[in-house]
Amino acid sequence: MYILVINSGSSSLKFQLLEMKDKKLLAKGVCERIGIDGQYSFKTDKINIKDQQINIPSHEHAIQIVINNLTCDENGVISDIHEINAVGHRAVHGGEAFDNSAIINDDVLAEMRGLIKLAPLHNPPVIKGIEACSKIIPEVPQIAVFDTSFHSTIPDYAYIYPLPYSYYEKNKIRRYGFHGTSHNYVSREAAKFVNRDIKQLKIVSCHMGNGTSITAIKSGKSVDTTMGFTPLEGPMMGTRSGTIDPAIVTYLMEEENMTAQQINDLLNKKSGFIGVSGISNDWRDICVAAKKGDCRAKLAQNIVTTQIKKYIGSYAAVMGGIDILILTAGIGENSDDMRRLVTTDMEFLGIKINSELNENMPRGINIDLSDTNAKVKTLVIPTNEELMIAEETMKKIV
Ligand code: ADP
Repeated sequence: MYILVINSGSSSLKFQLLEMKDKKLLAKGVCERIGIDGQYSFKTDKINIKDQQINIPSHEHAIQIVINNLTCDENGVISDIHEINAVGHRAVHGGEAFDNSAIINDDVLAEMRGLIKLAPLHNPPVIKGIEACSKIIPEVPQIAVFDTSFHSTIPDYAYIYPLPYSYYEKNKIRRYGFHGTSHNYVSREAAKFVNRDIKQLKIVSCHMGNGTSITAIKSGKSVDTTMGFTPLEGPMMGTRSGTIDPAIVTYLMEEENMTAQQINDLLNKKSGFIGVSGISNDWRDICVAAKKGDCRAKLAQNIVTTQIKKYIGSYAAVMGGIDILILTAGIGENSDDMRRLVTTDMEFLGIKINSELNENMPRGINIDLSDTNAKVKTLVIPTNEELMIAEETMKKIV
């Protein structure tokens, strides 16, 4: 069975074609700068096209280019587009309507359009990607896999904000949580890796990349997560402030005459690592600068690692314990500094890692990083959101 996974952004469209029997990646690539000057990358076992300049005026053109390349006589990986059994779309925001992935039809699309208000940047390009596939490959079923669905099991006391209740009822203001596909994937992988039934486990999953979120997973279900109404909440991130005192917003609006848009930019694009350090939004740069003695880079490290430790501790409290700590995504999988810092002085919780292994760890595979005497398993599990989307898609069509 072949599944095409599509991740549409406002000016980019990433794709992967997976063969599901052996979970083999056959081709991957990205159309970038859609509607600007167009750039295309495509990689298979045979070829590696990188940043080719190509005209991509719309998402529909992007899908057509993807299909042409996948089926091309010379370098394609399938002979006919009808070999693709389904398309799985990474659909960011499913609101309260979607507690699971959904086969796309007119009703689902209408529901997704209704959710644009909650995710004005993320949902419109997803809809464009779906519409493009409907036009170009109408006979291939399409499935939307929502980042929020995994968090639909969070109890009301963890998703309701303490505002007047009418803002939840009228404006749908609540915690939705994001990165659900990743947390779902790594928690299942972790349970398999330690050969335990996920239903018996209390897991804290730390997805640490450009965006960071921590999730408490009890018996395989998300029971709390740090991202909230938007992906801004939680620990500080590359350019996002994470959680701050909300009164700072109104104070700045009055004191600095800032508009809502300026505040939005400040909190989403100019804060976090870049804001505190003044150096970079990239964790690697922060670590290099901190090692050279830069005080503000060190401060950024201290803030984020303390915040993450606080969430780990609070989620252990929420679940009544912790069996597994998962570290994943760009920073979790690659940064020994981050892994060391978020597990330092956590022995009281049963968390202790093998420092030598941490510094000399092979990449791209599941690793048990725990010290032999540690009560909690600290695992590095490389995330694979595309594979998870493909598996969810397959579940819906078989
Ligand atoms: P996204 O949220 O965009 O998917 P990623 O999961 O790719 O982001 O994570 C990007 C982050 O991972 C960046 O802050 C980058 O510095 C960090 N990162 C990537 N590779 C390394 C590495 N080898 N060492 C330390 N940090 C890394």
